Amino acid sequence: MEGLIFDIRRFSVHDGPGIRTTVFMKGCPLTCQWCHNPESRLGEPEVTVKRQVLEGRNISKPETTGYWIKPSDLIHEISRDRIYFEESGGGVTFSGGEPLFQPDFLSAVLEMCKQKGIETAVDTSGYADLELFHRIAPLTDLFLYDLKILDHEDHLHFTGVSNECIKQNLKYLIHSGKNVLLRFPVVPGISNTRKNIEELKAFILNELLYKGKTGHISLKDHRIFSEGTMIKPIRLSLLPYHSMAREKYHRFHMTNPLKGLPDLQTRDMDSLKQELESMGLSVTIGG
Ligand code: SF4
Repeated sequence: MEGLIFDIRRFSVHDGPGIRTTVFMKGCPLTCQWCHNPESRLGEPEVTVKRQVLEGRNISKPETTGYWIKPSDLIHEISRDRIYFEESGGGVTFSGGEPLFQPDFLSAVLEMCKQKGIETAVDTSGYADLELFHRIAPLTDLFLYDLKILDHEDHLHFTGVSNECIKQNLKYLIHSGKNVLLRFPVVPGISNTRKNIEELKAFILNELLYKGKTGHISLKDHRIFSEGTMIKPIRLSLLPYHSMAREKYHRFHMTNPLKGLPDLQTRDMDSLKQELESMGLSVTIGG
């Protein structure tokens, strides 16, 4: 068995706790209009022409994005950074693309990480069968889980897929006490609308924070009780829209639906952050 990846980024500090090695897997069933990794979407290697200016001369050369790798070889690469993981409380993060798009490869690599005592995180759109989450949840220390658009039709329009299984899978992870960091991409006119923000808040309150047998929900002190057992607080990271991928759209001959949309700044997140924090959520910006 082999998996298709397109990059391994070492010393990352944005994809989970501590120093991380992030493995970018290739292939994604979604087509988010704001995608900042368009080179990750096709589930096969791609050859494009890379243009550079070297010593005043324009240089063009073909470059392949994506390569096949065996689980044991990938683990060998990841293990080279173990000393940094141990000293910083870090680990490996599987990102993409959509890591769950290659379920057998992902499961095999997660299993090997666990055998070696390496902490694991999976950065996911949540778009996969629930059975797959059952399979990988015991092997995953942290889920970085995107929650983008709550309205079904809007989600279909802007990402190309339904959000039904995304919501169901998230409920499963939260209610089973898994360590989840929600990530909300803040995209003007798409996710950052009053309608979507209100629906996001309602979904978190009504579907993620549910009354267990004790009927006890405490939001203000960030404690959530489910059937008498304290489970982890809801944490949410706001990801401001940026247009850094525009060159990639050009290089991969893809249409950029948000061409010309200006970047958001961290300060643009302040009022939304405060609004969500007033619900008792733990909110950060970026990452
Ligand atoms: S889920 Fe991620 S990789 Fe896939 S299209 Fe959306 S933003 Fe891009």
